[in-house]
Amino acid sequence: MTLTSTSAMNVARVLTEALPYIQRFTGKTIVIKYGGNAMVDEALKSGFARDVVLMKLVGINPVVVHGGGPQIGQLLAKIGKQTEFVEGMRARNAPERKAPEIIDIGPVGQVSGIDPGVVDLLLHGNFIPVVAPIGVGEDGCSYNINADLVAGKMAEVLGAEKLMLLTNAAGVLDKNDKVLSGLTAREVDALIADGTIYGGMLPKIRCALDAVQSGVKTAHIIDGRVEHAVLLELFTDEGVGTLIRG
Ligand code: ADP
Ligand code: MG
Repeated sequence: MTLTSTSAMNVARVLTEALPYIQRFTGKTIVIKYGGNAMVDEALKSGFARDVVLMKLVGINPVVVHGGGPQIGQLLAKIGKQTEFVEGMRARNAPERKAPEIIDIGPVGQVSGIDPGVVDLLLHGNFIPVVAPIGVGEDGCSYNINADLVAGKMAEVLGAEKLMLLTNAAGVLDKNDKVLSGLTAREVDALIADGTIYGGMLPKIRCALDAVQSGVKTAHIIDGRVEHAVLLELFTDEGVGTLIRG
């Protein structure tokens, strides 16, 4: 393939813009929660895999935590369960939320701790860890955990530079569906209180806040439907989606 002079110029521009970011993130750990629509579209899937490999090859340590994606919703629809409530359980696992009926969604848990031993070993070998959000309880049973929560805790225990949560929205949206490019803890509280942030966005925003308050430098909620969303966030001046700072 030969490049026209315009596209060659673009390649050069992209490389020079990316270089300082590559230098900044070399040797740093970045935890990516992979989920939403990016998990079902074939082109996005292979694009995501290539992007993560690229990160590894330029010296960054990516760790992928994967969610159930839309398949969980489809499965619930198939077995005729109330997705909204079950989503609530998955998302909030909140005992204060009253159940309209008892629904068996299998054992669902929360993260009490993560032993980073195996992930650490893989990270510093030539591997890209891909983590399923299944935990083991004190009773020895397996528990499904919302992948956002696992990704957030994983970023904390690994002392990650960044937490990236891919989803099927352009970022955190305001009341007029405009992307909020940056959020602080106080702004998040207000948006939750007035119902602008609800449902599946709640565990994302909560674990993003917990992560940045526990030493992770930045957390990002980004649009997994956009090709190369991860690279755009990492290596461009503009970034994409919503940035959450402590
Ligand atoms: P994922 O598979 O990425 O975890 P979820 O469905 O659990 O997806 O969470 C993302 C969903 O959160 C969005 O599709 C949207 O319906 C919902 N949501 C709630 N509040 C907001 C908000 N303020 N901005 C964007 N999305 C929101
Ligand atoms: Mg979710």
